[in-house]
Amino acid sequence: MSETIQPKATIVIFGATGDLANRKLYPSIYRLYKSGKLDENFAVIGLARRGWDNDIIRENVEKSIQGLVTEDEDVSAFTSHFYYRPFDVTSADSYNDLKNMVESLEKDYQTDGNRLFYLAMAPDFFGTIANELKNHGLKDTPGWTRLVIEKPFGHDLPSAKKLNKELQAAFNEDQIYRIDHYLGKEMVQNIEVIRFANGIFEHLWNNQFINNIQVTSSETLGVEERAHYYDTSGATRDMIQNHMLQMVALLAMEPPINLSTEEIRSEKIKVLRALRAVKEDKVDEYFVRGQYGAGTIDGKEVVGYQDEVEALKGSETETFVAGKLVIDNYRWAGVPFYIRTGKRMKEKSTKIVVEFKDIPMNLYHRKDALRNPNLLVINIQPNEGITLHLNAKKTGNGNLTEPIQLAYHQDAQSGINTPEAYEKLLYDSMLGDATNFTHWDEVALSWEFVDRILASWAHEKPDFPNYESGSMGPKAADELLAKDGFRWWPE
Ligand code: NAP
Repeated sequence: MSETIQPKATIVIFGATGDLANRKLYPSIYRLYKSGKLDENFAVIGLARRGWDNDIIRENVEKSIQGLVTEDEDVSAFTSHFYYRPFDVTSADSYNDLKNMVESLEKDYQTDGNRLFYLAMAPDFFGTIANELKNHGLKDTPGWTRLVIEKPFGHDLPSAKKLNKELQAAFNEDQIYRIDHYLGKEMVQNIEVIRFANGIFEHLWNNQFINNIQVTSSETLGVEERAHYYDTSGATRDMIQNHMLQMVALLAMEPPINLSTEEIRSEKIKVLRALRAVKEDKVDEYFVRGQYGAGTIDGKEVVGYQDEVEALKGSETETFVAGKLVIDNYRWAGVPFYIRTGKRMKEKSTKIVVEFKDIPMNLYHRKDALRNPNLLVINIQPNEGITLHLNAKKTGNGNLTEPIQLAYHQDAQSGINTPEAYEKLLYDSMLGDATNFTHWDEVALSWEFVDRILASWAHEKPDFPNYESGSMGPKAADELLAKDGFRWWPE
């Protein structure tokens, strides 16, 4: 059995009073500690404007891990690793003070001078923080320094380039860890393993045997309290530019020559380069946008997007996108990749469906004379697992077939021990494994692709709302597949 590596580091969280830190980062650090992936050689410094102190952050951390601890567990040994400083990211004094604090804590915790700077706050500050860290000598250490940054990485290609330039003035590309939390999900990481460790799939993984591949990420939630941010973003920027294109890249990439970060990234980048650019005047043939109206979710009536808050009245922001992607390479010529994502949809689910072609002469069919194609369904969330849809003989019914499913459910095997996406990504970033983070080239190619679609939509006023809450999106999303002779699976 391989030994667990226990990285030593000071983790500096910018935005320590915020939602992400409380909901995701603190529980992830706790899980790493509990599972022995973090030993005693770590300290966490929380920074934000609020006048908290060490005691208050420790109380908050304790609250944030409440669901993970046993009744009589004493978590003070864990929370004692947390420190807090009121901090204004735009003030030089703050950084001088931070430097002293980091240097003192790394002596106490013997962290070998390793520093992880996690930027869990609005992206407008990323460039400033990176440069102030450099200018105030926070990168001058015998250990490693890494910068972890949250999405969104820019608003379009020009703003992403500008941000990247600012970051690269202070940190090298190999020190920048751009989070795409989908890449930390167990079943997204499993895409490569399912493909490259199973002959029965990889031999068929091409245009000779696959009809189409579908990726759906649907939510039942509306915009909730993120209305302001979401309205400046929309589903294309929030989901397609990053998570959906990353999943497509993993599904379509060639087998890497080894499992190093560089080789895997290089294969993913080739897929993004092979994505056929959609011409601005042809966007409607390939993409459908939508915005939810009122409807019913889980038996409860909900309002439409524009009625969520006053500021959204008349909004033209899309809360749904479906698209057909064409990958112009030898393996995928003629195989459409359909993607779909939206809010206030019928179910919360992220899944991939690979639809295989029928055999050249199939003598068997269902009672209704139709045939079920073989499907490989990879469930990313909430029920992590893989299902293979096959046809079998119906008892006593001659040549009639019956669809059957071979299913594997990840959580049935590993239960609550399945690591959270953020837990894995935090650990990887401390180990220096950047495989599941997004390289700048991937970010740039993805923005280039979606910018064209957004530019075309900006010229035309949409007819919103155009789908009911609790549905699977506008009719046009079904027509997108129907005109190619396909349908979304499973129903
Ligand atoms: P949030 O709840 O609004 O938190 C923002 C944090 O920044 C707070 O701790 C705030 O604390 C601090 N802050 C704001 N201005 C500051 C300043 N001038 N100096 C120092 N601190 C300042 O935001 P969030 O939801 O945690 O999101 C953080 C980042 O993660 C964003 O980039 C977001 O897009 C990304 N993200 C979040 C989620 C999520 O689930 N929340 C998911 C994916 C990505 P004070 O008010 O005390 O200063």
